Amino acid sequence: MRITRRTLLLGAGAGALSVLLASCTPEPEPTPTRTPTRSPEPQPTNGVPLPAASIRSTWTSDQYAFGAVSFVPAGVGAETRSALARPVDDRLFFAGEATDEEAPATMRGAIASGERAADELRDAAGDGERIAVIGAGLAGATAAARLNDAGFEVTVLEARDRVGGRVYSRVDDAWPLPPQLGAWLFGEADADLVQTLEAEDISVVDLAGSLWRSPDGDTDAVATESLTAAIATAQAAPVDSSVADALVAAGVDTADPTILALLALLSTASGAEAAKLSSWFAPPLPPTEPGAARDSLLPFIEHTLDGVQVGLNQPVTRLAYDDTGVSVRMGTGEALSFDRVVVTVPLGVLQEQGIEFDPPLPFANRGAISALAMGSIETVWLRWDEPFWNAEEAVWHTVGGDVGIRTWINLLPATGENVLVGIVGGDAAARFSELGKDEAITLALEALGPYAA
Ligand SMILES: Cc1cc2nc3c(=O)[nH]c(=O)nc-3n(C[C@H](O)[C@H](O)[C@H](O)COP(=O)(O)OP(=O)(O)OC[C@H]3O[C@@H](n4cnc5c(N)ncnc54)[C@H](O)[C@@H]3O)c2cc1C
Repeated sequence: MRITRRTLLLGAGAGALSVLLASCTPEPEPTPTRTPTRSPEPQPTNGVPLPAASIRSTWTSDQYAFGAVSFVPAGVGAETRSALARPVDDRLFFAGEATDEEAPATMRGAIASGERAADELRDAAGDGERIAVIGAGLAGATAAARLNDAGFEVTVLEARDRVGGRVYSRVDDAWPLPPQLGAWLFGEADADLVQTLEAEDISVVDLAGSLWRSPDGDTDAVATESLTAAIATAQAAPVDSSVADALVAAGVDTADPTILALLALLSTASGAEAAKLSSWFAPPLPPTEPGAARDSLLPFIEHTLDGVQVGLNQPVTRLAYDDTGVSVRMGTGEALSFDRVVVTVPLGVLQEQGIEFDPPLPFANRGAISALAMGSIETVWLRWDEPFWNAEEAVWHTVGGDVGIRTWINLLPATGENVLVGIVGGDAAARFSELGKDEAITLALEALGPYAA
């Protein structure tokens, strides 16, 4: 990959790229809290000591994502994703997790969408055409690499000062392993991807063992049958309903703490509240014992982009297209000309009209953009010099109590590091994202009360 930091690529129309300094707005970074390393100090309230380091994500308000992952609201068909993916006049092609019907909201789906869009473009294009790929996440990197291999002249334009998008491994001296602020967990369906990562010396560790705990102590693992059976029944109905309505129809008490714990877990995968999520197209519950990236995922993205021209700090603001090509306007006001463009920006950016289309997109694409929804998932990483917990299990679930984060990953058994990772989805994630840094860490520490030894 040739990444030119803070550069604007010019002259693509002439076939040669000249380089100019750009003055684009850098991405707002999640704020690491570099509290100095200190001896654990028991908190008066719940016995959880202050962490030595902490960092959290804010995807919900991130201007280049506006959310974490797409979901299908109740009453909206999953084929809406294919409508979103529909090429426009064989000039604009669409990729990104939201366009993938098979594995939306995942790394796998983003990669598949990049492959699909590249193939669609290749079938429509002439030899050696100039192609822009908007966005350097997994979908964009995959599409760009495939088109580059096919002999096109490819330029990736990325708004942030880094590649990877919603895959975001922070490399930071305060941490013995990189905090993963975006995607980093894998299930059985990700076996091929994990194999690819491991071939690139990116290790994926097993997170073994689940712990279910209430403020009063350990509880039995919450049975998932009531939720899966209610969803299965709703999926057989002639009309779609929300997951919450499916539970009510099945006679399940949606205020029961065990059901709330399950729904909190579901929202860490969908980003959605059960009241909004389609039961026809609900994602599965997260794997009980997932794999987790132990190393930075950045080398994987960089390797994918090997040999591709990438411009960072290049937010695209407008795409004007006709039957001769596409004019791409950047945040600086500069415009570049391409034969065709692959748009891989998140659904949230399209919904917030982060890119203006001229002429406006056809109804089918616009209808899909407004019908699909963007969910919230946030994560918080906390590190201590000494563990304050004594649980061996890697995945913790909190049942009951008034806590802001119910799902925790204990990285100590798999990595030897005293790190706990909180994951929260849905409305609770949106609220978490709005908190200031100190408030967010306080909320996380309060949520860990049941695990203080
Ligand atoms: C907190 C969190 C946890 C997750 N956990 C998992 C997990 O464990 N496992 C899993 O499989 N998936 C997970 N996902 C989902 C996964 O991260 C995504 O499905 C996938 O990374 C999306 O890739 P993408 O290329 O479609 O989009 P992105 O990665 O968002 O790439 C789009 C790119 O477009 C850029 N862009 C936006 N606007 C503009 C513009 N105007 N001009 C130029 N560039 C622009 C963005 O900066 C970004 O780089 C998680 C997501 C989040 C947020």
